Amino acid sequence: MNTLATFAPSTPPSTAGSLNAQPVAWYEPAPRAATRCVKTTCPYCGTGCGVRVEVSGDDAAPTLALGGDSAHPTNRGKLCSKGSNLLETLDLDARLLHPELDGQRVDWDTALASASAQIRALIDQHGPDAFAIYCSGQLLTEDYYVANKLMKGFIGSANIDTNSRLCMSSAVAGHKRAFGADAVPACYEDLDLAELAVVTGSNMAWCHPILFQRIKAARAANPAHKLVIIDPRRTASCDDADLHLALKPGSDATLFNGLLVYLADRVKLDYDYIDDHTEGFGAALSAARASAPSVAAVAAACELDPADVETFYRWFAATPRTVTCFSQGINQSSSGTDKVNAILNLHLATGRIGKPGAAPFSLTGQPNAMGGREVGGLANQLAAHLELEDPAHRDLVGRFWGSDRIASRPGHKAVELFRAIEEGRVKGVWIMATNPVDSLPDADRVRAALAGCELVILSDCMAATDTAPYAQIRFPATGWGEKDGTVTNAERCISRQRALLPPSGEAQPDWWIISQIAQRLGYREAFDYQAPWQIFQEHARLSAFENHPDAIPRDFDLSAWAELDAAGYATLAPTQWPVSPARPSGTARLFESGRFYTASGKARLLPISPRGPVNAPDDDYPLVLNTGRIRDQWHTMTRTGLSPRLAANQPEPFVEVHPDDAARQQLADGALAQIASRWGHMLARVIVTDAVNPGQLFVPMHWTSQYASQGRMGPLVNPEVDPLSGQPESKQTPVRIAPFATAWYGFALSRTPLATDCAYRVRISGEQHSRLELADTQPVADWRGQAQQWFAQGELPQGEWIEYSDPANGSYRCALLENGQLQAVLMIGATPALPERDWLGSLFAAEALSDDQRRLLLSGRAPAGASAGPTVCACFGVGRNTITDAIRDQGLDSVAAIGQALKAGSNCGSCVGEIRQLLASAGQG
Ligand code: SF4
Repeated sequence: MNTLATFAPSTPPSTAGSLNAQPVAWYEPAPRAATRCVKTTCPYCGTGCGVRVEVSGDDAAPTLALGGDSAHPTNRGKLCSKGSNLLETLDLDARLLHPELDGQRVDWDTALASASAQIRALIDQHGPDAFAIYCSGQLLTEDYYVANKLMKGFIGSANIDTNSRLCMSSAVAGHKRAFGADAVPACYEDLDLAELAVVTGSNMAWCHPILFQRIKAARAANPAHKLVIIDPRRTASCDDADLHLALKPGSDATLFNGLLVYLADRVKLDYDYIDDHTEGFGAALSAARASAPSVAAVAAACELDPADVETFYRWFAATPRTVTCFSQGINQSSSGTDKVNAILNLHLATGRIGKPGAAPFSLTGQPNAMGGREVGGLANQLAAHLELEDPAHRDLVGRFWGSDRIASRPGHKAVELFRAIEEGRVKGVWIMATNPVDSLPDADRVRAALAGCELVILSDCMAATDTAPYAQIRFPATGWGEKDGTVTNAERCISRQRALLPPSGEAQPDWWIISQIAQRLGYREAFDYQAPWQIFQEHARLSAFENHPDAIPRDFDLSAWAELDAAGYATLAPTQWPVSPARPSGTARLFESGRFYTASGKARLLPISPRGPVNAPDDDYPLVLNTGRIRDQWHTMTRTGLSPRLAANQPEPFVEVHPDDAARQQLADGALAQIASRWGHMLARVIVTDAVNPGQLFVPMHWTSQYASQGRMGPLVNPEVDPLSGQPESKQTPVRIAPFATAWYGFALSRTPLATDCAYRVRISGEQHSRLELADTQPVADWRGQAQQWFAQGELPQGEWIEYSDPANGSYRCALLENGQLQAVLMIGATPALPERDWLGSLFAAEALSDDQRRLLLSGRAPAGASAGPTVCACFGVGRNTITDAIRDQGLDSVAAIGQALKAGSNCGSCVGEIRQLLASAGQG
């Protein structure tokens, strides 16, 4: 095993507290062999990589060693930086370990009884639609299944939605319009077999790095392979591209409509396929021609070079083996569903679907957004790909579940759900494994809605989130490493997540918590689950129930597992659905026969009339804000934020600004800026770069109040949604930007966390220390007094002070040592130009500082060769200085040579672009 990380907990799992609720048998301690190997799945992105963990020692003090699972078909042993550092997120300090009621620890019986009584009272008094569940693509399929069954099957309301609404609901709506079912036709092997990969609306190199590696490997094996990136921003994915189309934000549908016209005009469509397997072609082509009649017209509308548009179109026309990967840049739009269908139109009109190396491919963001779709986790779906609004489908599910209370109309989708809470139409909400106060658009309004909500219940594995303060009842849920169940990845592959460790504290699996509430609401028989395999088996049986041409045929079919028992579940291998007795080993790609799940059996092409963003820039808000992910963080950082390695590469919220806009607004690289929209504002560190076009800004989505005082991007984002999918327009919000007028900049490193109340404050996890980046608009008259106050609040010991002050240039530096060991450092200056933090951070590992280290401490300058520099490769923790030194001293002249010498860039490859830049700077590029 290529071991990437090892872990031994600093805090032993707590066994305090008694469980009065019904005991469960789902966690079976493995025999205490010296070492056991657990195969599980990464809990972050929708790629769904297999992870292999060697566990040794007993449950109270285990030692874990983690690497990629070389037998898993998705990743074949590779992991990206996030997966590689999973063990750094397992410490218990940040976990929610006990049930809480109104902020007080209570036992499970008390918490469950209170929650169920309040839910029952709400429903009895105001009806089932007064209650809602807001859940998450982080849940396992078994959790999701039980939550959906409770809401839609027994409470009788479809008010259950999920943060997957923010991620891929436009893809769902597009698939259903075109194929008659929410079915992803492609498989990962298509990435290996394609000769043209079109990646649109995704920084795939960072957001799905393992899949991007497969494209790169295909290109290495086939020099004719082309890669086209379509993205308003130049991202790390563009480093490897043959062509980057930096189109005007929101103009994607015009670009794809133009391609349909181009192919029709050159007779490059598959007319047999169109005739035999599709309908709606004529209307789709007419609409395309109306909006995108020529290459010149497309180039003008998309603000692209006509030659580049022509090149893209020519390559597409010439390459039958084309895969079009699309993600949030397409989905997160007020016309996201139309954009999806513009892509699907192209693949249907060229017959490039259901064939090796030819398919449209929705890159799912979350680890189990697909599983959620299977069980009906969205407010407008029923379970098992059945339709809520179809009486026959409701009847089928009602008979299967033994319920006559099946919800009969769609519930509130995410954004409207929180509006309903704000307006008091929904009076109680149960939030599971997500953080809507940060991730939804117009997020401050969401926070206010929760603050005024009668009943907020929260199930989470983490104690401190921005949503937590608004919950009256908090249930501690098991986290990754303790969870046991299944997830489905972007290619429909169902994999097991297996427990490595027993639950921490009194944490319980989500399915158990939901089942306990359901039983207390009076539905004991339907929710009498003892283990996740029973839920999975029921889920598989529902997928098979009356699923044949004479009843209600549907794509989602797990009938081969309808009798799966505990032993079969324990050894379940990764398998792509549908999985039936005829296809017991699963199905790689769908629609190979050209038959679809519409009434006619033909796929539908849709007429697409492109629409721009709802809110256009104006004089007050002249710039367009784009949002997205960075390489080493996941969602709202509740877990990845705990990892020092993952925090090292991009430690602060930042905003990318084009040099022209930066000059116009007098923004300096490295300074702070305030970004404001009509809905909210945030503070971020300025990066001046031509990676964004003039008139556009980019900010990351990850920071919350737990890590940054004003780094949340959710409050900025306009709450416009796609009318079909309900997915928010998170990529295009009109904003303005201005310098943040600071009186001083600074940072503090300390062995214990410091409490500060600066206007700008970002907390960053470090090895044996915590770092704060600080700035404020108010000058500080007495820095020594201020430092002593902060250090005292951090409960640092009284010790030896070393101090330097130069009031004339606004500089103050101090350090606190105890018995020669560094306890804290504070560095203040008038500008952002302060010493590098990495060497100072590394000094916290020392028992006592050396004479050299003491001498250089307040200069912040590392002795030659002593600092690895800012982390470049988060998989192996390799710093910039280490790489540049090796380039210089060892004459390394390629990414491969650096990988061989230092390992950097040799795992997930997400840092290869940065390594190339270092080579170029050293004259080796
Ligand atoms: Fe996890 Fe990275 Fe694989 Fe995604 S690509 S599943 S984050 S290891």
